[in-house]
Amino acid sequence: MKKTHNGLSPTHKARKRFGQNFLIDMGIITGIVRSVSPKATDNMVEIGPGQGAITSLIVEHCQNLNVIELDRDLIPILLAQFANIKGFKIHQADALKFDFASLTSSDNPLRVVGNLPYNISTPLIFHLLSFQSQIKDMHFMLQKEVVLRLCAQPGEKNYGRLSVMTQYLCAVENLFDVPPESFDPRPKVDSAIVRLTPHKPLPFTANHPDKLAHLVKTAFAQRRKTLRNNLKNLNETFNFETLDLDLSCRPENVSLEQYVTMCNTIWP
Ligand code: SAM
Repeated sequence: MKKTHNGLSPTHKARKRFGQNFLIDMGIITGIVRSVSPKATDNMVEIGPGQGAITSLIVEHCQNLNVIELDRDLIPILLAQFANIKGFKIHQADALKFDFASLTSSDNPLRVVGNLPYNISTPLIFHLLSFQSQIKDMHFMLQKEVVLRLCAQPGEKNYGRLSVMTQYLCAVENLFDVPPESFDPRPKVDSAIVRLTPHKPLPFTANHPDKLAHLVKTAFAQRRKTLRNNLKNLNETFNFETLDLDLSCRPENVSLEQYVTMCNTIWP
């Protein structure tokens, strides 16, 4: 396959609707793969391989790689590079609807990697978190602002629903920043690499995880309102004043542990 000076196909035009910003900075690509540190026996899955920038370095270490790509036009470009690799499999599919459990076995949990399309990153992370027990770790390139939200701590301005629900299930590490000039075309925002490692076991366990998700969503419905105001219609039979918590505080001042304790008190 012919490539241009920056390693991209001369015939493929990047599509905005698929969030296509292809990585062209070899230093960043190497840095991502070094952070992932793929091993020969790993069960790897890459979301949105694009033209294979990250893929080509991963297969040097681990040939057991499934890739999920939505854009049909990229499939021949990927096949031209990787079709001869025995453990390599392309799924032309929407990662938001993909059944990741279909790729795992109990003794080899998934390692997920992806330079994610910015427009679907949050729903995709929530979708992947529903397979948390079958995942070993996840490395993502995301909009920097999303990485800051994922790892924010109580009291910080980025702390919200995404921080609490992700940190309930995973340890979050902000690894390094990536500037717009590392891509073609250049995105308008800064990016960063994040590692999510599912907790095994969870540090705090909600008796009803779906209720925790509902509680946290309701608590953050209006960030400027107090907890008392946001939660008043959550459960009409429960007296929130009995909680061992200052209800006049804002939702961003409540820790993950406090949300889990609150949830287990409301729904024992
Ligand atoms: N990994 C490549 C790189 O780093 O150069 C491409 C990254 S580009 C930001 C995102 C990729 O995700 C594109 O190849 C795009 O077609 C693909 N994509 C977009 N939406 C998708 C979806 N819902 N499911 C799977 N892939 C998707």
